[in-house]
Amino acid sequence: MTRADRQGAHRVAFEKNRKRILKTENTCGICGKPVNLQLKAPDPMSPTVDHKIPVAKGGHPSAIENLQLAHWTCNRQKSDKLFNNIKEEPKVLGNRNLPKSIDWTLYKG
Ligand SMILES: [Zn+2]
Repeated sequence: MTRADRQGAHRVAFEKNRKRILKTENTCGICGKPVNLQLKAPDPMSPTVDHKIPVAKGGHPSAIENLQLAHWTCNRQKSDKLFNNIKEEPKVLGNRNLPKSIDWTLYKG
């Protein structure tokens, strides 16, 4: 089996499990508060499906056991923490000083 086939299979399984989670769950697995499933991106409180153990940390990419419903913003903050652990910026940044550009090609949330 080629690498591309494996990724394709994971994507199909992930999509299936993502839909199942959106149908069956209604609380955020990160903050424990209700998720309004009517909200749509880019609303920070819109629903998203989070990997409990990030794929980058060895978590399963598509198994439902590793997936949970989460607010977009909670998922984002979790990812930020993971990245901050890798390269911590010691200087304090004010909200107005936050970098304006993000390289989204590096972000595979
Ligand atoms: Zn949340």
